[in-house]
Amino acid sequence: MIAATTFKGRKVAVFGLGGSGIATAHALIAGGAEVLAWDDNPESVAKAKAEGIVTGDLREADWSAVDTLLLAPGVPLTHPRPHWSAELARAAGAEIIGDIELFVRERRARAPEAPLIAITGTNGKSTTTALTAHVLKAAGRDTQMGGNIGRAVMTLEPPAPERHYVIECSSYQIDLAPTLDPSAGVLLNLTPDHLDRHGTMEHYAEVKERLVAGSGTAIIGIDDDYCRAIADRLEASGRNVVRISVTRRLEDGLFCEGAQLFKAEQSSAKPLLSVEGIGSLRGRHNAQNALAAAAACLACGLSPDEIQAGFRSFPGLAHRMEQVGRLGRVLFVNDSKATNADAAAPALSSFPRIYWIAGGLPKSGGIESLRPFFPRIAKAYLVGEAAPVFAATIGEAAPYEISGTIPAAVEHAARDAAGDPAGEAVVLLSPACASFDQFRNFEVRGEAFRQAVLSLAGVEPIGEQGK
Ligand code: ADP
Repeated sequence: MIAATTFKGRKVAVFGLGGSGIATAHALIAGGAEVLAWDDNPESVAKAKAEGIVTGDLREADWSAVDTLLLAPGVPLTHPRPHWSAELARAAGAEIIGDIELFVRERRARAPEAPLIAITGTNGKSTTTALTAHVLKAAGRDTQMGGNIGRAVMTLEPPAPERHYVIECSSYQIDLAPTLDPSAGVLLNLTPDHLDRHGTMEHYAEVKERLVAGSGTAIIGIDDDYCRAIADRLEASGRNVVRISVTRRLEDGLFCEGAQLFKAEQSSAKPLLSVEGIGSLRGRHNAQNALAAAAACLACGLSPDEIQAGFRSFPGLAHRMEQVGRLGRVLFVNDSKATNADAAAPALSSFPRIYWIAGGLPKSGGIESLRPFFPRIAKAYLVGEAAPVFAATIGEAAPYEISGTIPAAVEHAARDAAGDPAGEAVVLLSPACASFDQFRNFEVRGEAFRQAVLSLAGVEPIGEQGK
């Protein structure tokens, strides 16, 4: 745990006592702050109390004595409306921050030279964070990973000069980290998402921009208009910007052509790395993640050889185009995280011949936007509530059956794929739907897929996560 020593002697209200809220309260207490913690959920309050944290209804607190409100990232700061605790803090003139802000203050106080890579974007954050941390670790660097992925940031090991931090930041966390100053910041891409929480696309983009605006090196994916404008703006203001692109050759920055990643400098491009044959980095979206991770690792002084070795041993993340098994020439891929059509598109674009398991709780818009991929569908196996709607959309464009459940779909798809005339085929769970009609969450759904695959006779599990 990291004790929040920069808050010694200060009175801090903590609202939101989920896992990261409780960890943050402990970090503040360990650092010598006086903490009063609360949550709208009585069970969370009871849990914090049982762990020795002082709790009390913040509506009845003496706010004139409170310096800081420490807000959990799930609690609305602005949209759709500020949470009552944020309104009370604002009225009292207390600053409102989150756990990432505690961390960056602690790093500045204890080890400002400790490399900090902060990663954000609409899509690909977790993959890029995990890949960057993996490459650094594989190269022998002392590496801590956390934030919006895995461990809450204040539960990591304390800052030390040689210790590298790779921190995934959601927009909510950036909004609560006003002095975020990573040595390298990554902004992957920006598309409309979470607008319920940020009001407008402009505000969402403005929050994301803050992460790279405060960075020593700003690594920015310039394949969308918002990010391109941000890169231009930061460069014009004198920032060190590294542009990355998967759609065009750049004169300066990192780009890719097929599986080959290039570094361009003074208008000449040199091959840098390759993702050829690396199953965990398949697809153009992963090329973007790989370029970003490469740029961040180069900024930390890693050599291309070290980065290449790390890429090769990257196991990938569970439920995101995760290879779970192979049966003869048929590969089984779990992309349960694809809970809407947009998220399913990268997986569908990554394989030429697909036995596609889709469905669940349908989202608005359905799968109409996936029509360009229908020619790749050898057959679709439809499950859950969405099955009849998806069947109607697919119509004559590809063969389909209503399988109903994931185990039935896996069994039928495995049988059909084994007899595929082209030989190489993939059985892909990329549902384009939420999971809640049949599962608690997408992880449980992905696990059901994995279990169904691993129970097929003769299947070879792939990777650590297959064991
Ligand atoms: P996040 O943490 O931002 O939600 P993940 O790394 O968990 O992103 O990936 C979630 C899904 O988003 C993946 O299954 C894939 O479909 C898609 N995805 C991953 N990287 C990208 C990217 N760079 N651009 C667009 N989509 C992506």
